[in-house]
Formats: sequence, C-alpha cells, structure tokens
Amino acid sequence: MSYPHLFQPLDLGFTQLKNRVLMGSMHTGLEESNDGFKKLSAFYAARAKGGVGLIVTGGFAPNFRGRLTPFSAQFSSSRAAEKHKVLTQAVHDNGGKIALQLLHAGRYAMHPLALSASDIRAPIGMFTPSQMSERQIQKTIRDFANSAYFAKQANYDGVEIMGSEGYLINQFICARTNVRYDNWGGSYQNRIRFPLEIIKAIREKVGADFIIIFRLSMLDLVEQGSTFDEVVELAQELEKAGVTILNTGIGWHEARIPTIATQVPRAAFSWVTEKLKNKVSIPLVTCNRINTPEVAENILATGQADMVSMARPFLADPEFVNKAEQNKTELINTCIGCNQACLDHVFKAKRATCLVNPQACYETELVLEPSDKTKSIGVIGAGMAGLSCAVSLAERGYQVTVFERNERIGGQFNLAMQIPGKEEFKETIRYFTNKLDHQNIVVKLNYSVEMDELRQFDEVIVATGVKPRAPQLEGSEHPKVIDYQTYIKNQPTLGQKVAVVGAGGIGIDVATMITEPENQTLDTWLQDWDIDKNIEFEGGLKPQDTYKPTREVWLMQRKKGSIGKGPGKTTGWIHKRTLEKRGVNMLAGVEYLKVNDDGLYIRHNEEVKLLDVDHVIMCAGQVSVNELAEALTINEINYHVIGGADYAGELDAKRAIRQGVELASKL
Ligand code: NAP
Ligand code: SF4
Repeated sequence: MSYPHLFQPLDLGFTQLKNRVLMGSMHTGLEESNDGFKKLSAFYAARAKGGVGLIVTGGFAPNFRGRLTPFSAQFSSSRAAEKHKVLTQAVHDNGGKIALQLLHAGRYAMHPLALSASDIRAPIGMFTPSQMSERQIQKTIRDFANSAYFAKQANYDGVEIMGSEGYLINQFICARTNVRYDNWGGSYQNRIRFPLEIIKAIREKVGADFIIIFRLSMLDLVEQGSTFDEVVELAQELEKAGVTILNTGIGWHEARIPTIATQVPRAAFSWVTEKLKNKVSIPLVTCNRINTPEVAENILATGQADMVSMARPFLADPEFVNKAEQNKTELINTCIGCNQACLDHVFKAKRATCLVNPQACYETELVLEPSDKTKSIGVIGAGMAGLSCAVSLAERGYQVTVFERNERIGGQFNLAMQIPGKEEFKETIRYFTNKLDHQNIVVKLNYSVEMDELRQFDEVIVATGVKPRAPQLEGSEHPKVIDYQTYIKNQPTLGQKVAVVGAGGIGIDVATMITEPENQTLDTWLQDWDIDKNIEFEGGLKPQDTYKPTREVWLMQRKKGSIGKGPGKTTGWIHKRTLEKRGVNMLAGVEYLKVNDDGLYIRHNEEVKLLDVDHVIMCAGQVSVNELAEALTINEINYHVIGGADYAGELDAKRAIRQGVELASKL
C-alpha cells in the first residue's frame, strides 16, 4: 500500500476509525435550506462511500443566541435529533462515522443578540456583543451538554466543540476578548474555565463511549492571543476533562494572515500541531492546506500528527480516499485552494460548491446519468470549459474527440499555474490529462480542425476561449509594451520600473509575480507574514518586519475606488495586503495617455504624470474567440458555445467548468 500511515486504523478504545482521514467541518448552506437535508445526506453519503474515516458536520449553534446569523442552523432539541437521523443514517449506511460540530459564534454573530466574554466588538463584527452574565455562562455550558446529548440521540458518533477561529470559546480563552474580573476572566486559569466546564458537562451527559473532539486554537495569529505554554496547559486540561481527540485551529477569522488560501504553502501549519506531540496522550489532528495523499502521508509518517483533517479536498473529490487506497492518485481532482466556489459562496450566503467539481453539494441535481443514446461529439478547445464538458460527456458514455490548437491542454490554467502561489492550478491540468486518457477520449493537439471534419459529429462544442483585449493607446506598439499572455508565457527580463495596466484578477496576479521574492520557502513565507515559529509572542505574531521591495511597480485601473483586491470575497484582502507589503503603487481613476521612450504618460488626479517605466504590461481583460460559430451555423452543424468563447467578461474558471458539466448533463 502506498500510504500505510494514512490507512492505519485509529483505536479510540470504545470505537475504531478505519483510517486517519477526518473530513473537516464545512458549512455548505444546505443546513438551513428547506429541502437541504436530503441534499446534505447525499453530500455526506458520497464522502462516506468515498472512504473518509470520520466526517465532521458544519457548525450548529447550541442555542439561539449562539447562531452565526439569525437564520443559522441550531441543534438543541429532540426534534432536531430526529431531523438529523437522515444524515447519520446516510453516513453509517456507507461505512463511515460522523460527528456534529457545535459552534457558538459569540461576538462574530451577525445579529444584535450577540454574546461574548466581554462587550468588545470584533474588527470584522457587525454588532457589539453583550457581556455574558454568570447565569448566561452556566446556561451556555448546559446548552452545549444538552446538544451533545441530543447528538447522541441522533446517532452521531461524536461531537466537535469549536474552540478556535475566534468564536465564543476562543473569546473566553484570550485576553484580547476577555477583560472580565470574575471567575471567568483575569488569569489564564480563569479564562480557560469556560471550555473546561463545557467539556466536563458534555462528558457527564454523554458517557464514556462518545467521541468528543475539541478544536483548539493552537496559533491565534492575533494580538493578545495565547502563547505556546498556554496552549499546552489548555490541551492537558482538556484531556483530563474528557476530550477524545484534539483538532488544530489556526488563526482567528479576524487575523490578517492567510491560513488556507492557495498562496499558503501546503501543510504550512503542521509544525504547530507537531509542537504539541508528546505533551498530551490523546490523538492530535492537523489541518490547513493538506490536499494530496502524499502530503497527508508525510505528515503522519514524520509523526507531526495522528490524523489529518481535510475539508475542501472533499468538495473537489468525494472519492479522494478510495482513489488513494487504490493507487489511483493521478485521478484525484485536487482542491486548488481558490475559495471561489466554497468559502466565497458561504460568505455571500450562497450554497457552497467547488470550482473544480460543480457537482459538490449538487449531488442530487447535477447528475451525469449514463445515456442510452450513442453520440459522437467534437469539442473544440481544451481549456477548462472544453475539458470539463469532454470528460463529463465521456462519463455519460458518449464518444468524444477534443481538438486543441496549442501544444498542450489547459488553456488559461497554463498561465495561472505560473503565478507564484498558484502552482496548484497545474493539478487541475494533471487531473484532466489523466481523465482524458482514462476515458479513451481522442485528443488532437496542435490541431486546427476544419469544417469538413466537424460534419461527422452529432454535436460540436465550441470552447475556443479568449484572447487578451488590446486597448487603443498611443504607442501601444512600442517595445516597452507587452501583453500579459506573452509576459507570463515567455517571462522576459523586466526592468526595475514596471507599469501594469488593468487591475482585475490578472493585473493583480502579474503585479504579484513581478514583485515575488526569489527562492521562497515555507520558512521565508512564515517570516514574510511575521509568524513566530516558537509561539513565544502572544498569538504567534512577531513585531512586523519591513519588507524591502526589489522593483518599483504601478498597478492601475480607470475606475475610481477600491483597487488591488481582486474578485475573491475571502481572498481579496490577501492580494491587497501582499501588494501593499511589497510597496506596489496602486492608482485608481487613471487615464492612460501614451507610451514612448520616456515611459507611460497618465492623467491622475487631474495632473499629467510620466511614469518613467521600463515596461508596460497590458492586463486589460479579454475578448471571446468564437469565429467558428458563424461557419458552423452556415454549415448547419449542431453546436453549443461555452466558456470564454460564449462570454469573456467576468469569465472565470468557476463559470467555465460549471457550464461545461451542465451542458454535458443535458445533451
Ligand atoms: P477583468 O477582471 O475583467 O479586469 C480587466 C481590467 O482591465 C480591469 O481592471 C479594467 O479596469 C481594465 N480594462 C478593461 N478595459 C480596458 C481598456 N480598454 N483599457 C485599459 N484597461 C481596461 O479581467 P482579467 O483581469 O483579465 O481577468 C479575467 C478573468 O479571470 C476575470 O473574470 C477574473 O475574475 C478571473 N481571474 C480571477 C483570478 C482570481 O484570483 N480569482 C485571478 C485572475 C483572473 P478599468 O476598466 O477600470 O480600467
Ligand atoms: Fe478547493 Fe477552490 Fe473547490 Fe473551494 S472551490 S474546494 S478552494 S478547488
């Protein structure tokens, strides 16, 4: 077996987990929707069938005031227990185990009834919480215990108590949010009394044969967070109080350090869990940016943790574990850490899904049924839209031929994967390459298909993508000017001063690429973000280092207003922070006048300015490439246009891939 540590069972005494894989808690949005539980059952069933050892549900509030939003899911009654039986049944029927996560939002609650240890509003909070009274504290402890009891009634195998990410329990633990003078504040021993009383009350209520996972914030990444000695003390007390498994929490939601986005190196925080090894005797779970069986196996083999938690990788591929066990890792659809269809959706109150797997959370709706028709289908273009459509059509049993004008498949992802911090994108290309092969799809590369050849197909899919927009600008033919595709593909040497025209997703990527320090390693990345590996400073944050930029860069857009954030709701701030740290000049409301030997002339704040740059990189969006459509119409060939060829504005891979799968499901 290739991953012996990953597939070693974990004996918890009263029960056994079949492997070392925990599916971390993810809120999908189905928890609250009307017919959500049927869909959620199918979602969990697929992951249990796919081999996950232990699934943890999204967070459920133990009482009304602990809800994250006024309509967030709550779990605190026998009625809720009955309702949840469909979920536990679905998982058990497929050979898995499942724990319910109990999460009290505390001051992160987005309603005026928010409660916390003290009445201090979160920097990202909408409401100032009320300080909990003694009676409210005692009630909340009882509510956690009762909810755990009902979880047992619902046939859950355990509960996970959310003690990290800056939620209520974390708010009691840290001086940042707890300035109480009573028995629940002041000394560290007083501040950790709340989680310890919760665990004791739960254990008393559920008995010995029920899993209690505690998600412990091991690295807060905020000022006035815990030090490592404090984390150890709490971990040991939690073990004594009756916790079965300790899961790792990294960073509060208000922390200004990236912890899971794609630019975070793989397994970037496993060292934090490792520091706790041998300090407690219960199993430790590590998490964050673990997305391949190799990374997971290495963590376990080197003794950094006893289990690995992965969450988003199971949105990307429900069969992750089975494929690893059957040595078919080349067919794993890898999570690329983009957050675009999972967290970004949840933060916009939309149902979560996955950019690389649009069927995630749509298991009962976006179905690729085997077809009883035989059809031969030609797909023109092997970018994300064409590829997702081709493999989905083949899955339904159609005969598919893919034509690609370039020498390799992948389209725009071939550019994206060259951007520092976006190396994961090559995994998607690897996945599709192997899927094409596995499904016997004919692929013709370096091939411009002719109309005569297209006549033989029952259907033709036009997925010919986009090309860079070439804006009208005096001097745009000057040797200083280069379009982003040519720059990323050829990476010519640039001068010390560079202007980037256009600050959409690609402009930001290019500005990041040309200011990237050389030879980045995990240690230099941690240093760049001021993370203290000894966790001697509170919250694991060192005083900020000043970054020395290597190149002077201007990133510009014509629109007024915010610049540098990019499209991602949960990742935009990371892009902006990175560019700010690197001293990139970000200008909005710019008019581009001309380029000549002097550089780029712009009008900004009603003044004409010369940016004496050596190069101007054009990142001014894209236009569709779909000339074929007209010829197909004339020749009366049955065709469909998808991806960038269909619509280039605001095109992103999420829409392209989804469009490909949706079309395939209907043909
Ligand atoms: P984009 O997001 O549409 O941005 C185009 C940029 O070009 C804008 O800043 C626009 O700003 C500027 N522009 C448009 N017409 C112009 C003109 N005639 N002259 C000068 N500037 C002009 O497109 P993109 O950056 O090429 O990205 C393409 C797609 O890929 C987008 O959907 C994007 O979301 C996606 N993408 C996503 C990520 C990510 O991290 N999630 C990364 C890269 C790309 P003004 O009009 O204000 O000047
Ligand atoms: Fe991973 Fe992106 Fe899919 Fe989220 S949307 S699960 S980050 S690939």
